[in-house]
Amino acid sequence: MIERAKPALSAAIDLLYPPALYCISCGNLIDRSRPYALCDRCRHETDWRFGELPSGHEFGKGFYCAVYTSPVKRLVRNMKYHDKPHIAEYIAEAMADRAAGEPDIAATDIVVPVPMHAVKKRLRGYNQTELIASHLAKLLGIAYAPDMLIKTRPTETLSTKNRDERLLALSDVFTANPAPAPYPPVPAPNPYQDSPAKILLIDDVFTTGSTADACTRALFRAGASSVTLFVFATGAMGIKS
Ligand SMILES: [Zn+2]
Repeated sequence: MIERAKPALSAAIDLLYPPALYCISCGNLIDRSRPYALCDRCRHETDWRFGELPSGHEFGKGFYCAVYTSPVKRLVRNMKYHDKPHIAEYIAEAMADRAAGEPDIAATDIVVPVPMHAVKKRLRGYNQTELIASHLAKLLGIAYAPDMLIKTRPTETLSTKNRDERLLALSDVFTANPAPAPYPPVPAPNPYQDSPAKILLIDDVFTTGSTADACTRALFRAGASSVTLFVFATGAMGIKS
């Protein structure tokens, strides 16, 4: 009952307090002209960079559009843990603005989000990475396949684990869906029948890359020809020294 009542309650709160009127990071009142619904202070404090992630991973090239510092940390936490899925749309806008004209991203043909386990998604009500990926696909004009990867079992939090422990925890956690559904408005080609797909894999935050590597392995097993990673923000390990 509580789960069913949640969307109606959220809608009523949104009507009373439209989410676009508040900075997505600090919650200060803003007007609708502010890019990405960030107040001036949070926008200026954000370390925006369109950077390339270090090599040495299973995926080919990887890109990020901001560093995971305080304004970004706050807005990502708001999106994930404080029932604010609308933030995903602004993140997608920021990513699309920075990816425009990047040939490695333009050359991909299917946008695929890092999946969340079904039980976790039901509890949270949404997978924020799916929401980012669907908006981003529309903005970039690339086909979108939300169910191309499946997370077969839940994993405990990875943030306290080192790289080897993460690899072990993630082994065989992701699998490629044998029959992903075509998704409007830009139907994704069937990656297993047409020419091998060039995947644009999307995640919200890059930490060690273990999750993206595990997803990439599953996509290659299914016949993908290349995997390019694009994340919204990266921690220190994603910044080339
Ligand atoms: Zn702010």
